[in-house]
This record gives sequence, C-alpha cells and structure tokens, in this order.
Amino acid sequence: MSVYETDIVIVGGGIAGQSLAAALVDAAGAGRGAAGGVGSGTVRVVVVESENTLGHHTSSRSASQMQPSYGPPGIRALTAATLGLMPGIERALGTSILSPRPLIWCGLRGSAAQADSVLASVPDAREGSIAEAVSRLPALRASALESIAFDKNAQEVDVTALLGYYRERMRTGGVTVLYGSAVSDAQPFADGWRVTAGSNEIRARIVVNAAGAWADPLAGLFGKAPRGLQPYRRTITVAAATGRAVDPSWPMASDMGDTFYFRPQGTEILASPLEDTPSVAEDARPRPSDVADVTQRINAVTDLALGRSTRSWTGLRTLSPSGLPIVGREPGDPTFYWLAGQGGYGIQTSAALGRMVAADLLGHDAGLGDDVAAAFARLAPEPGPATA
Ligand SMILES: Cc1cc2nc3c(=O)[nH]c(=O)nc-3n(C[C@H](O)[C@H](O)[C@H](O)COP(=O)(O)OP(=O)(O)OC[C@H]3O[C@@H](n4cnc5c(N)ncnc54)[C@H](O)[C@@H]3O)c2cc1C
Repeated sequence: MSVYETDIVIVGGGIAGQSLAAALVDAAGAGRGAAGGVGSGTVRVVVVESENTLGHHTSSRSASQMQPSYGPPGIRALTAATLGLMPGIERALGTSILSPRPLIWCGLRGSAAQADSVLASVPDAREGSIAEAVSRLPALRASALESIAFDKNAQEVDVTALLGYYRERMRTGGVTVLYGSAVSDAQPFADGWRVTAGSNEIRARIVVNAAGAWADPLAGLFGKAPRGLQPYRRTITVAAATGRAVDPSWPMASDMGDTFYFRPQGTEILASPLEDTPSVAEDARPRPSDVADVTQRINAVTDLALGRSTRSWTGLRTLSPSGLPIVGREPGDPTFYWLAGQGGYGIQTSAALGRMVAADLLGHDAGLGDDVAAAFARLAPEPGPATA
C-alpha cells in the first residue's frame, strides 16, 4: 500500500476535478509554498480517479457547447465567467479552442413548443423567419417548421484541448494523479481523512467530492447524507449525410420541443435525441433505439438522409433536485467539499467553478466579480437530512 500525505484530495478526474486541480495550481501553486485557507506552507493536491485515464466518463462525452444563454441565471453567470477565462487558456495553448456555433431553435409544425417559450426563457434569443433559418442551414425543410428563434452567441469548444490544458497545468504544478484508484473507504483521521483508493492510502485535510454520477455514493463513504443527485442518460451519435454535402460551418439546430439537436461534426452530423432517462451511476452505453429515434426525427425535418451511425456514445448528466450544482463545504464539516451536480453545464462552467472553488478552499478572492460570487454562494449545500 502506498501512502500519500496531502492537503487536498480531489476524488474524480473529470472536468470538474481537473479544472479545480488546475485552478489550485494557478491560485496557490500545488506542491509549492503558498498561504491560504488550508493553512500556510505547501499546498499539496492529489487527484484520485477510478479509471486508468482522466475524463473517461461524462466529460469526454459532451456536445462541446458553451451557450451563454443556456440555463438559469446563476449558470449563465458562471458560463460567462468561463468564456471570459478562455482567451487566457487559448493564449497558453497557442491555439483557439472556441468557435462560433450559433443555434437555430426550431418550432416544428404541429408541436406545442414554439418560439414564444424560447424567447421568454433564453435571454439572447431573437425571433427569426423560416426563410432565414433555411438560408443559414439549407438542410432544414421549410415545410416542417412553424417558428424559429436564433441564439447567435452559442459557441463550440474543443473539449479535448481544454482538458489537455487542465491536465498540463496539473502536471507542471506538481499535482499527483492516482489512476485506477477507486475510493472504497474513508475514515476520520487527525484533522481530516484517511482515504483508501485502490492500493493507495491518502491522508488528506480536505476531500473534494468531484465524482460526477457517483457523487452521492461517494459521500456515503464519508458518512455524509446523499443530496438526491440523479444521473440521467444522454446519447450522441455521429452519422454521414447521404442526402447532401454538410457544410462544417452550419449552425446547430435544436428542437424547441427537446426531441433532438444536431450540428456538423466536420463533414458528418452529430446529433442527440435529448433523452433524459434516469440511470444508475455506470459506464453508460448507447441504446440502438435512441440512435434510431434521433436519426428518424432529423430525417423527417431535413433532407440530410442520415445513414448508419459511424459512432455513438452515452454520458450521464447528474442533476440535483433543484437543477443547480451543489458546490461548497458540507454544513458542519469543513473537511468535506462538494463539487457535483453540474448537469448539462459542466463544460461551460468548468473554468469559473474551478477557480471559485480553489479560491474558497485557499481563502482567496477569485476575482471574478460580484455576480459570479453571488451565483456561487447560491450553490452551497443545504444541511443533509438527519440520519438516525
Ligand atoms: C451527451 C451529453 C452532452 C453534454 N453536452 C454538454 C455541453 O455541450 N456543454 C456542457 O457544459 N456540458 C455538457 N454536458 C454535461 C457535462 O459533460 C458534465 O456536466 C460534466 O462532464 C461533468 O463533469 P464531472 O467531472 O462532474 O463528471 P465526470 O466526467 O463523470 O467525472 C467524474 C469522475 O469521477 C470518477 N469517480 C467516481 N467515483 C469515484 C471513486 N469512488 N473513486 C475515484 N474516482 C471516482 C469517475 O471515474 C469519473 O471519471 C453534456 C453531458 C452529456 C451526457
């Protein structure tokens, strides 16, 4: 058994755990001298991950969108702050990772979901005409559409490059990563915890729960009450269009009734049936019926004539009962910190959430402004239900 002494152990090497570890490096210098809320001296950070690679689960299975107008106001503030941090990341990478991918909201003929509801809930949306939608995305069938709204601010992000940036910050900052190390036991120890993860024992002053779909079961290992975090399946498939050539710069199209979205992926089409099926925490796999459903729905409203999928994947969006992430110290126990429940917003909020949590742990000001600080404060966990 290898033993590690650390200040902060982050459980989970998805985008939440990685962006936090990178932000701790930026804020304090992991493995180097720094002062802060975890005490003065060296801030040591260990990331433990069940899998043999980082980002194996939901973080590598997203649609790669950053939509500033998507989600409730607090999410929008964190998304705007994340977008504000991207130029610095792009400079460090020496390449751009954001590209415009405007969104066309489609109200389908005969559907109850039409532009009014989108215009009421999406701040940046503006009403548009069917002719304009078809001129921007010629694969759409005008006859299938009843109303249109546009969100011109949506962006696509290169998630592989973003994760690569976080990983490189961790490496250069001296963060220890323990792969293939599922946390299986935790015991109070000194001022913090003794955590068993695979063949490792980690003695840490603070544990951060960034375990994605496993966040509630992980909390249970630490004697903390579950917060009702529920994973939901969501599938993406990529298929060639046999009906017409795909222009890689087309906008994304999304059904106002939430039965599909699609966008170019190079010269193929990436699409989701937007299923919200509750799931256990697992390595989710696509179901042929979900892939067939979305292919059929898109072929009904476009002339793309999508053929067989070339690849499909399924991830788990994990939601709290309020729909907002749960981020902050366990009430009554400052040694246990939640960073969970990011739902469908975990990519677009990652940089800002990582920076806010790092600042909170180290006792710094994150410097992201009052709106973000207020949004962040609203994510703090409520006390868990009393246990007998
Ligand atoms: C189809 C789909 C499309 C999406 N599109 C977008 C999008 O366009 N934009 C956006 O912002 N968000 C999107 N999301 C949501 C986003 O992908 C998630 O919010 C985000 O990836 C969650 O990151 P995470 O690090 O919390 O979880 P994960 O990436 O799942 O990481 C959690 C990690 O914890 C590890 N772990 C769990 N238990 C233990 C344990 N006991 N010991 C050690 N390690 C453990 C797991 O192995 C896993 O690697 C999408 C999600 C899906 C499914």
